[in-house]
Amino acid sequence: MASAAQRRQWLINNMRRAVAACEKRGVDDFLQAWDGAALLDEDTATGLLKDVASSIVARESEAVGMAAAEFYDELRALEVAEDGFTAEPVSADFGRVQEAAENLLTRYAESEEARRIVFNALKNAISGWIANAEKETIAENAKRDKKKALYAFVPSSSPCAFCAVMASRGLMTNRKAKEYGSARMHDNCSCLAVPAWSASVNVWGKGKRPEFWEDFYYQAEGRLRENGATNIKIRDVCAEMRRQNPSRFTS
Ligand SMILES: [Zn+2]
Repeated sequence: MASAAQRRQWLINNMRRAVAACEKRGVDDFLQAWDGAALLDEDTATGLLKDVASSIVARESEAVGMAAAEFYDELRALEVAEDGFTAEPVSADFGRVQEAAENLLTRYAESEEARRIVFNALKNAISGWIANAEKETIAENAKRDKKKALYAFVPSSSPCAFCAVMASRGLMTNRKAKEYGSARMHDNCSCLAVPAWSASVNVWGKGKRPEFWEDFYYQAEGRLRENGATNIKIRDVCAEMRRQNPSRFTS
């Protein structure tokens, strides 16, 4: 019989794999559509790519949202007695994705160089929209849940500086998380939002603690103070974290 801690770790790993699989499937389909579009005139190509990108995001973010809702329920069952609550999936907003994809595609016809930039931006955006459905599903259900859920940002091994700051806060209430502003996910962010109902739960994995990320934060903040900075914003700390650890943080 697996312990609750083992079960939790298994669920977290499983969630991470599910998001990665959906992202990969989405990006692979996009690559194929992109190659196909090269044979078309530019107007037809951008129209097609906009539609393909949004339907890929709709499909895969729905899959991620459903997996995340299940993830929420299963983690909840480890800590909270059954009370009829069921998590609801959140997926990407179709209209918004369409609009954003259209914006990204405006430079498609400009030049070969512009097309390459459009390609990378759209590919990263697709990946981000898909992965974001996990974080949004957890945040939304934590809000709905009467048994106040906490949640933590559990980063990959090389997060962006902002994700690391979020992670360093450990398990946060919804209100606390909002204080830090809505996170703008970095490209290829594989950080997960993980809920817990007791502050003593370890969502980090055996031997790992949020304090690991906190050290980078305080080191950067300390340097800024030494340099005479006052009224230090998270943004400034992130910039300093990147400067101090250029290979640790992806952005
Ligand atoms: Zn991240």
